[in-house]
Amino acid sequence: MAKVGVVSLGCPKNLVDSEVMMGWLVREGFALTARAEDAEILIVNTCAFIDPARRESIETIVEMARWKERGRCRQLIVTGCLVERYGDPLRRALPEVDAILGTRELERIVEVCREGAGKRRKRSLPILSSEIASRYVEGPAYPRLVTTPRHTAYLKIAEGCDHGCSFCIIPRLRGPFRSRPMEVIFKEAEALAARGVRELVLVAQDTTHYGVDMGMREGLVALLRALARIEGPRWIRFLYAYPNHVSDALIETVASEEKVCAYFDIPLQHVSARLLRAMRRGGTRRSLERLIERIRRRLPEAAVRTTFIVGFPGETERDFRELLDFCRVMEFDYAGVFLYSDEEGTAAHALAGRVPSSVARARQRQLLREVERIAQRRHRRWIGRTVEVLVEGYVGVGAPPSGDRVATPLVLRGRMATQAPEIDGGVILDVGEAERPPQPGEFVRVEILDALGYDLIGRVCHENAR
Ligand code: SF4
Repeated sequence: MAKVGVVSLGCPKNLVDSEVMMGWLVREGFALTARAEDAEILIVNTCAFIDPARRESIETIVEMARWKERGRCRQLIVTGCLVERYGDPLRRALPEVDAILGTRELERIVEVCREGAGKRRKRSLPILSSEIASRYVEGPAYPRLVTTPRHTAYLKIAEGCDHGCSFCIIPRLRGPFRSRPMEVIFKEAEALAARGVRELVLVAQDTTHYGVDMGMREGLVALLRALARIEGPRWIRFLYAYPNHVSDALIETVASEEKVCAYFDIPLQHVSARLLRAMRRGGTRRSLERLIERIRRRLPEAAVRTTFIVGFPGETERDFRELLDFCRVMEFDYAGVFLYSDEEGTAAHALAGRVPSSVARARQRQLLREVERIAQRRHRRWIGRTVEVLVEGYVGVGAPPSGDRVATPLVLRGRMATQAPEIDGGVILDVGEAERPPQPGEFVRVEILDALGYDLIGRVCHENAR
């Protein structure tokens, strides 16, 4: 059977889609390869959230198309959000693409690959209609080839979004919010646990909306409590919480369930009530302050991550100052600051009061400097304490004179429960003279010695290693 190469772009939710497509392909006898030059079929699973993501998607498609000329590739398939957004124009602009599949018809990947396999000449397959709407997320457990490190896996609990924030195109690309049935998620989590996964990371466009479409109240609470009963995973975290949906019951669950990480990822986007209204998100500075206070009162050690958008239409210097002041007061552990990206097809596209890009960029730089300074200072509170760390692997260190990076067996990297994979910092671990250094996927007790930017430096306490 043909060899398939998959390039996954964008967020962890998209990565899960890629892993599911790979699972289907392997089940049907296709082989996977990580080398584009060896692949007979290349799939680019795209992101189209904002302009830089779109550009990366197009560049990757063009780069992969070259393998049709100089490699073994005879079929190039583009899937995901870019297809949902630009279906026909995309195919016209990129004739080297043989087939495209939107986010709601990924199940057809096997059919498309079968159709293309065996064809020597470049040939265009028809665009498949997104009307078909496979809605795999709601179906029974699917095969999935997890590509993250063995001990960590994302778990998609829902697809789509009902919120309609005025700057966001996602509801158009991914459709309305649909929760996966709890028993399906539970089964998948058990299967992941059986494969050695120690950390489950729940993802959806809004994890705190889980179950609402199924008539549940506090669906995420019920789900977290159920998943916490599964043997094997030691950490469970959820990403992308919507501020208005973070209830006391949810905070209490994080506090009382040992396995649920004291980690809140809550994109706030802004704090000016006027802008929050224009963003169609609701809330006020005071309501957001109360939310963070509620979390910190119950869980003083919890990490709070957020994201903000600067340069949204109508943002005045006063709005920006308010945001800056809010960040100084609330002291987030991690914060991302994004430039407003004007997206056709969103409600914000029609708004007046454009902020000049030089002003928006200056605000982004200033806010980033501030949140980084605060986060790094906040990080220092861990120094001198002993914490639990999930070991991830060895650290690459510079190796002069070639400049190549090599791994040293003495320095490992891990994460605390308050650090999510890929986005937050980590803990650099000195294992000293250990006879048997801890292995990736193991949990160890670590004494934190220092802080370096977003990273912490620690020494493994061997007497406590598990
Ligand atoms: S919550 Fe808002 S920003 Fe997030 S995906 Fe939904 S519409 Fe977009």
